Amino acid sequence: MTRSLSKIKSSSFLYLLLGTVFILSVASIVYSSEVRPSSFSKIINSKFGSLLGHPVSKSVPSISPNLSPTPKATPKPLSFAEMNVLYGPCTYLPTFLYHHIQGRGLAVEKKQTALTVYTDVFRQQMQYLKDKGYNIVSMQDLINFFDAGIPIPSKSILLTFDDGYQDFYTDAYPILSGLGFKSTLFSATGLVGNPDYLVWDEMSSMNGLTLFANHTWSHKSLPSVDGEIQQREISTADTQLIEHGLNLPKVFAYPYGGYTPFAESYIKSLGYQLAFGTVPGSVLCKKQRFDLPRIRIGDVNLSYYGF
Ligand SMILES: [Zn+2]
Repeated sequence: MTRSLSKIKSSSFLYLLLGTVFILSVASIVYSSEVRPSSFSKIINSKFGSLLGHPVSKSVPSISPNLSPTPKATPKPLSFAEMNVLYGPCTYLPTFLYHHIQGRGLAVEKKQTALTVYTDVFRQQMQYLKDKGYNIVSMQDLINFFDAGIPIPSKSILLTFDDGYQDFYTDAYPILSGLGFKSTLFSATGLVGNPDYLVWDEMSSMNGLTLFANHTWSHKSLPSVDGEIQQREISTADTQLIEHGLNLPKVFAYPYGGYTPFAESYIKSLGYQLAFGTVPGSVLCKKQRFDLPRIRIGDVNLSYYGF
């Protein structure tokens, strides 16, 4: 009797144990499936949310850079040969896209880590390119390839910096000029002189080794506005750059990668020769010269990207 009772007790205990384990498993699945999305959005908010509150003075445009490339459906990436047939002549020319180059402390303090490559990492990346024998070419070299068929040497790279942050002057340019590296800075010209942005005198002093180019006046997402506003955004930046002796050759970068056919035809009419988006890719083709791909470089060794 006692034995069978203890048997019953132990089997009840077993069932209780199994039941508890089952309930806990189900609960953990439900919990985790509920928790994951909100944790994800917390991360997104903590990383990117502060950008929306970026301080700018009154009467000047505000900016909230888009961090994700504009998706374009390419189910199967085309080979170089296929692209050459469709859009060629093409050349393999990785075009690096940077935003902020600044120290870790400042980036954290200003909540700009998502758009920052830390200065010491950037220095290592540039030195790596030098040590590995990469050629840093200019926009004019790419124009010469498209217009005159002058080949781009193998192991060539274009360096671009978007928006026109002050740290380009303090952190990036000294490293670039030390190595003799050419670059292009796409400036939203209405933001020049704002806190955290370059001023015109700094831009003029770096002109030559760096090409200062059009990224609209207020960093406007062009697909979201009508033709008249697109025209005003592009032409105001065009005029301001020219007034400061910059903008030659004329090249353009769409804010947020937002391409429009109107903007393409308008920049062509103003004499622009190239335009860049944010679609990832390293094959640059003549028939796509007004919506060229780039590679967004992060805070890692360049060998991560296969260089
Ligand atoms: Zn931008």
